[in-house]
Amino acid sequence: MVEPVRTAAADGATSGTVRRPALSPSRASDFKQCPLLYRFRAVDRLPETPTRAQARGTVVHSVLEKLFALPTAERRPERAHELLPGAWAELREREPELAELFDGPDDPELTRWLSSADSLLDAYFELEDPRRLEPEACELRVETELDSGVLLRGFIDRVDVAPTGEIRLVDYKTGAAPRQIGEAKAMFQMKFYALVLWRTRGELPRQLLLMYLADKQSLAYAPDEAELRRFEKTLEAIWQAIRKAGETGDFRPNPSKLCGWCDHQARCPEFGGTPPPYPGWPEPDPGPESVLDRTD
Ligand code: SF4
Repeated sequence: MVEPVRTAAADGATSGTVRRPALSPSRASDFKQCPLLYRFRAVDRLPETPTRAQARGTVVHSVLEKLFALPTAERRPERAHELLPGAWAELREREPELAELFDGPDDPELTRWLSSADSLLDAYFELEDPRRLEPEACELRVETELDSGVLLRGFIDRVDVAPTGEIRLVDYKTGAAPRQIGEAKAMFQMKFYALVLWRTRGELPRQLLLMYLADKQSLAYAPDEAELRRFEKTLEAIWQAIRKAGETGDFRPNPSKLCGWCDHQARCPEFGGTPPPYPGWPEPDPGPESVLDRTD
């Protein structure tokens, strides 16, 4: 359930970049879950309160990215643990509000939180040995336009390319929820990236690998062409539905048990709230890029 907060520095982009509206896996999932949630996040671009779990996901992703930048022999658990405090300091510098998650540097909760991040890193090393891998890219920003004109955009945690040219896409999951709960959402996300890679490079990824660090399990999946073509149609239908709602402002709430994780209950009619006036579809200028654009 918990996805890391990705920041503008993740791919060297600068905040303030003006971008054409695009579909990302997170926002597509938002719309499927609740159109009003999509509106709050993608159209109104309302801020949300970051959680410790999100921040931990971000630092763990950052440490793993830094780990693969090290010489192969240095990619050991001890080095990963050494990288953690620096990754947390960098994140606080980029997102100063995250410092408020803890009551100063001596907060015992911070010590426990860092220790839980170390445990996730240890779990990673139980799943694979990074000294045996040489990824083509980490935290890769991808974007492609489908023939239908739908623009797809997102970030892939890691791309491995075998000497034979076969591509594997890897995604680290750091949330505490059992993997069965988030599996359908994660698979949607991985098919999204597989489609973007396929359309960008003309090469169908051979494997999609989800690494669930909290429960030390991996899930590998081999996509096929027919399935990705069907998935492409699904994304086009979602985008059409979003654009239709965008023209009228008719983004309806769709209550579910996932409302418990929604930051917008106070402005949701299902909880007695009133949404702010609809600001209109953000085109041609969608406004500056926000942290929420990077929660894939
Ligand atoms: S509280 Fe539930 S119904 Fe309301 S916007 Fe959030 S997810 Fe949608």
